Amino acid sequence: MTQRPDNTKEVLPGPVLLLGAPGVGKGTQAKRLMDEFGIPQISTGDLLREHRKNHTPLGLMADDLMSRGQLVPDDLVNQMVQTRLQQPDTQRGYILDGFPRTLNQAEWLDAQLAEAPLPVVAVNIVVPEQVLLERITGRFSCPVCGTIYHQVSHPPRQPGICDRDGAALIQRSDDTVEVFHERMKSFRAKTAAVIEYYKAHGSRFAQVDGDAAVDQVTNAIRAALQRLRQDAAPPQPSSAGATRLKAVPNV
Ligand code: AMP
Repeated sequence: MTQRPDNTKEVLPGPVLLLGAPGVGKGTQAKRLMDEFGIPQISTGDLLREHRKNHTPLGLMADDLMSRGQLVPDDLVNQMVQTRLQQPDTQRGYILDGFPRTLNQAEWLDAQLAEAPLPVVAVNIVVPEQVLLERITGRFSCPVCGTIYHQVSHPPRQPGICDRDGAALIQRSDDTVEVFHERMKSFRAKTAAVIEYYKAHGSRFAQVDGDAAVDQVTNAIRAALQRLRQDAAPPQPSSAGATRLKAVPNV
């Protein structure tokens, strides 16, 4: 069981980034923190998959890149994130999962949040590459509630069926060995620099071992967030809104 402190909903989380290679558990952990802190998970991968499903111009443009494990251009992803951050549910904070993935995205986000009351804090989750491959190729998720399963480490009670809502589980089309290697290439070429970027700001960065039981990882992330928020400037009670975005049209 997660040792969940009673006061997590009273902590003002502000903008939180979960960083790490594909399969480190960003989505699983973001969902748990979302429930605990009462803030939304914003996964750029999920938003792009939604665009793909709805055949929007962005979805059509992203489709091929995503199936090859390559990154979608920064300006398109930034614009999508900007739109999402303007939703009222981001007032107390949010967990960005899978963003930023390039230095350009990180710098863009910093500029966007320059006037926000709380600075962005980043938690990097680290898992050995061989473990990532096993996780990714055995991963299934529920298309309805988003719960993530693994055929060995976290199987559903009934094979192929979501425990929570009975929906048929699906496997992501990019969760194959070939596409995993391409995604790791993108990670090394572009996203590793983002981790260094946040590492350079010690008070905004923490690293946790993701090769442990899910609860243990959640506990480590929660402790890191509480420490980072203590080190950061205290929240301003009347303006908890962590996402006071600068109006930057046409990013
Ligand atoms: P994810 O669900 O985070 O693994 O993302 C799935 C795919 O969506 C990635 O392999 C990229 O093609 C695309 N994607 C997600 N987030 C970003 C981002 N921040 N920048 C560029 N492409 C992204």
